[in-house]
Amino acid sequence: VVAEGRRRKFWGWGYEDEQLSLEETRKIAEQAQGVLGFGAEHISAPARITDLDLPPARRLAPPSQLAGICHSDVYERAAHAMGKSYKDVVRGFHGEIEHPPDLVAFPRDEDDIAHLLEWCSQECIAVIPFGGGTSVVGGVEPLVGDAYRGTLSLDLGRLIGVVDVDPTSRAARIRAGTPLPLAEAQLRQHGLTLRHFPQSYAFATVGGSLVTRAGGHYATGGTHIDDFVESVRAVTPSGVWESRRLPGSGAGPSPDRLLLGSEGVLGVVTEAWLRLQNRPDHRATQAVEFPTFLDGAQAVRTLVQLGLRPANCRLLDGGEAALGGVGDGKHAVLLLGFESAHFPQEGELEDALWCCRDFGGKPVGTPRVRGPQTTPPQGGPEQRWRDGFLAAPYLRDSLVAAGILVETFETAITWDRFAAFSTRITRAAQDAAVDVCGAAAVNCRLTHIYPDGAALYVTVLAPARRGSEIAQWDAVKTAVCEILLDAGGTITHHHAVGREHRPWYDRQRPDVFAAALSAAKGAVDPKAILNPGVLIDRAAPPPITRERAGR
Ligand SMILES: Cc1cc2nc3c(=O)[nH]c(=O)nc-3n(C[C@H](O)[C@H](O)[C@H](O)COP(=O)(O)OP(=O)(O)OC[C@H]3O[C@@H](n4cnc5c(N)ncnc54)[C@H](O)[C@@H]3O)c2cc1C
Repeated sequence: VVAEGRRRKFWGWGYEDEQLSLEETRKIAEQAQGVLGFGAEHISAPARITDLDLPPARRLAPPSQLAGICHSDVYERAAHAMGKSYKDVVRGFHGEIEHPPDLVAFPRDEDDIAHLLEWCSQECIAVIPFGGGTSVVGGVEPLVGDAYRGTLSLDLGRLIGVVDVDPTSRAARIRAGTPLPLAEAQLRQHGLTLRHFPQSYAFATVGGSLVTRAGGHYATGGTHIDDFVESVRAVTPSGVWESRRLPGSGAGPSPDRLLLGSEGVLGVVTEAWLRLQNRPDHRATQAVEFPTFLDGAQAVRTLVQLGLRPANCRLLDGGEAALGGVGDGKHAVLLLGFESAHFPQEGELEDALWCCRDFGGKPVGTPRVRGPQTTPPQGGPEQRWRDGFLAAPYLRDSLVAAGILVETFETAITWDRFAAFSTRITRAAQDAAVDVCGAAAVNCRLTHIYPDGAALYVTVLAPARRGSEIAQWDAVKTAVCEILLDAGGTITHHHAVGREHRPWYDRQRPDVFAAALSAAKGAVDPKAILNPGVLIDRAAPPPITRERAGR
C-alpha cells in the first residue's frame, strides 16, 4: 500500500495526500445536497491512524527466514483489514476496524509464499491473499471465525512487473501483484496494451483481477480478464499449479479456468501470461439520446446482434446521465465509441447510429473522430462521463463524510427477460431505499452488452443515518438481492462473490458443483487455510484448544 513514497489511505480511496480538507469536503457536500436534495448538515472528519484502537494482534511467531517480511504495525494491519465497498469505507472512516489481520506479510518471491503457506498450514493460521485491496465483497477482510490461531494478510505488492514479452504471439508474463497502471506503463514501451480498465484501475492488480474475473470498462468483445488469459501460475499449500501456455486447448477442463474466479481459496496466483493488443489509434465516438432506457436497450441489443463491437456502449438512464453531466434527466443517453489499432472507425459508428435511429435514438452533436495523425478531441459527453467515472471512488469518500449512502450493485440477464427484469430490479432498489432511508435516487446503466444479454449496474444514493449506515445498506441490498435471484439474474456480473455475496451465491450455484469445488480445495489446501469464508465452505480444521491458541 505504499507507492513512490506515498501511502494509501487506510480507509478510503486514493493516497493520504489526496484526502480533501474539511472545507473542500463541505463544498462537495453542498453541491451534492443541491442536486440530490439530501445530505447531512454536519460534515464529519475521517479517523486518523493515531485514533485507531485495533483489537490486539495475536502472538504469531513466524520462522526466522520469514520474520523480516512480516509486519504487525497499526498502519499495515488497518490498511489490510478491509476492502473498498461502501460498508468498508464507512467503517474505516469512523475508525471501526473489527477484524484486522494479526500479521501482514510481503513475500519477495514464490519461495517466500511457499514457506508462508507451509508455516500457516502447520500453525493453523488463515491466509488472506491481498492484491490492491479494492474488493467490494469482503474478499480481503480477515473475517474467518474461531477455528484459526490467527490471520495473515499476504500482500503481493512486491511481486510486480512485466517480466517477459512475446511480441510474436502478442502476450506477456506479468507478476500478480502488478498494479494495472504499472502493467500498462511497461507494456506501452512495447506499443502494446492489456486493455483491461476496470473502474478500480488505479489500484487493482493483475492477480486480483484474475481471481475475481474482473470486467474492464469496454462494453463488448474482449473485456473480461478471462478473455486475455493464456496461462496462470499459482502457489498452493500442496505445490505449484501452472497451466500450459496455449492459444487454445481442448484437453479436458481447463486448469487456468479453475483458478480464474477462485478468489484466493485455491492458491496464491503469482503470475500469468496474458494476451495483449496493439494500442488503438483510430476512434469514433458519439452520444445518442433515447426517449427511454428500454428503447436504448433494444438499440444496443440489435447492433451487437448484427455483429458490431463498440468498445464503449454504455447506456445510461435519465438520472444517471444527468448526474454524469451528459443528459437532461428526461432522456436515456448511449455513449457509443469504436476503436481500432488499424482501421478508421467512422463506418462502424455510422452503422451503429443507423440501428439507434430505428429505436428513436437521436445523435447528440457531431461524431468525434480520431486517427493516428489527429489530436484527440477534448471534452464532449464521453469525456465528461469518463472523467466522472474515474473520479467517482474519490467522490464517494466525501459523500460518506456528508452522510450520504452511496453504493452500487450489478447483475446480468438474457435479453428475453431483460425489460421486465431491469424494471423490477430498479423499482425494488428504489422502494427498499426509500423505505429504509426515507428518500433515494436510484439510477442505472448497462455496462456490458452481449449478443444474448446485458449487465445491469445500479447506483443507490440515499440519506444515511449516522451510526446506522451499515444496517441501512444491508437492508437495501438484501431486499434487492432476493428479488434479483428470484428473477433469474446473477448475484454478480463482475464484482465477485467474496464473503458478502455468499448467501445468494450458495443458492445460485449447483450443489454438486459446490461439492466438486470443495473437493478441489481439499486437494490443494488440505488444512483449509486459504481465505476461509470466501466462495465456499470446506470442513474447517478442528476447533483449537486454548493451549494451541497460545493465548
Ligand atoms: C470503486 C471501485 C470500482 C470497481 N470497479 C470494478 C470494475 O469496473 N470491474 C470489476 O471487475 N471490478 C471492479 N471493482 C471490484 C474490484 O476492483 C475487483 O474485484 C478487482 O479485480 C480486485 O482486484 P485487487 O487487486 O484489488 O484484489 P483484492 O481486492 O486485493 O482481492 C480480491 C480477491 O482476490 C484475492 N486475491 C487478490 N490477489 C490474489 C492473488 N494474487 N492470488 C490469489 N488471490 C488473490 C483476495 O483474497 C480477494 O478475495 C471495483 C471496486 C471499487 C472499489
